[in-house]
Amino acid sequence: MINKVKGTYDILPEDSFKWQAIEKVINDVSKLFNFKEIRTPIFEYSELFHRGVGETTDIVKKETYDFIDRGKRSITLRPEGTASIVRSVIENKLYASPNQPLKLYYKGPMFRYERPQKGRYRQFHQFGAEALGSNSPLIDAEIINYAVTFLKMLKIDNILIKINSLGDDESKALYKQKLKEYLKPNVDQLCSDCQRRYIENPLRVLDCKVDKFNPVLIEAPKPLDYLSHVAKTHFDKVIEALNAVGLNYEIDKSLVRGLDYYTHTVFEVEAKLETLGAQSTLVGGGRYNNLVASLGGPNVPAVGFAFGIERLILAMDSLETKEEKPFIHCFMIALGDEVQNDALKIINNLRLKGLIVDYDFFDKNLKGKFKQADRLNARFLLIYGSDEQKEKVVNVKNNETGEQTKVPIIEIYQYIKNKL
Ligand code: AMP
Repeated sequence: MINKVKGTYDILPEDSFKWQAIEKVINDVSKLFNFKEIRTPIFEYSELFHRGVGETTDIVKKETYDFIDRGKRSITLRPEGTASIVRSVIENKLYASPNQPLKLYYKGPMFRYERPQKGRYRQFHQFGAEALGSNSPLIDAEIINYAVTFLKMLKIDNILIKINSLGDDESKALYKQKLKEYLKPNVDQLCSDCQRRYIENPLRVLDCKVDKFNPVLIEAPKPLDYLSHVAKTHFDKVIEALNAVGLNYEIDKSLVRGLDYYTHTVFEVEAKLETLGAQSTLVGGGRYNNLVASLGGPNVPAVGFAFGIERLILAMDSLETKEEKPFIHCFMIALGDEVQNDALKIINNLRLKGLIVDYDFFDKNLKGKFKQADRLNARFLLIYGSDEQKEKVVNVKNNETGEQTKVPIIEIYQYIKNKL
């Protein structure tokens, strides 16, 4: 037997309805905020992620799935969505579209070579959104509100919104210098990865998983204390807009997020739910004003978020907001070979009108057919034998109440529709 690859999993038929339900809410809420779907390939030239996500990030350093294709090109399975979206926006010149800001969303598989655990996989799925073309703090707040509204629609309310600002380029440069000065005498107290990060990109030290409780990092200077006037005004306006729509948030000065491209606002939403365990962050995002230009496009500011869909499924499991158990409208019970063809015709007509209809393909006995109908959670049984065939009727049994009625074949659809 060949097993699945470590860190991957199958979405089996008994669970796929949950995915479909989440995907429906993604599409519905995106429509409300007037974001349009974009679909990009799951693999890109490796260089896109090296430049886009950042050479010094954990994702690019240790987690990408890279391979050389048969044309000797260096290819990477996408570890996140934003770099590909930005590549597509530049390549297709969407930044020149008259509808600004560009409001895009995506959903699909992402790949990271991480240590698999509950809520953390090597192939996982994200729902993300990006608003490109506006530097307005209102769109930062809009993106956060969009993410939170999505959670509300999934009935996940027990959440904590954490927000912070990294500032603009000027603030980031000043902060980087202050942080370096502060860390210099303490470098030997950091983990080996952080000693490297200190040299390559000191900001990365702040979201180290190993050094999370290291006092050197807890007491380190925070970006929020080094904001330029412009960056401070931007952040204040984001906060004002969040207040206006009644969102409760916590300013978390230590929040930096794991990707290099962020500027200004960064945020995460956590849910306190048993089923999530340690992986309580459902969504992360922020503003990335330099990414489009750094990937060869014009100077286009942008802000976005990404949800992990697996964690949403875990969160929903603990809330018992499971979708209604799958059901079918009708199960056809044909009694005897001579009625078989007419039975097939009847069910085919009902399907064309939009009813979910199933059938016994194993020629089971009557008891077996009834059992199968129950297992499929059939609302109605269509019992059809030679007597019914002669009378041009079907014996329609309501599987819940037991009520049984002879219904002319041409009226079955309307009869069932009225009862649903
Ligand atoms: P990031 O792209 O790292 O900002 O992650 C955004 C969201 O994707 C996280 O908050 C998680 O919910 C989810 N996520 C990230 N990595 C994984 C993974 N390996 N497995 C499952 N979900 C993940």
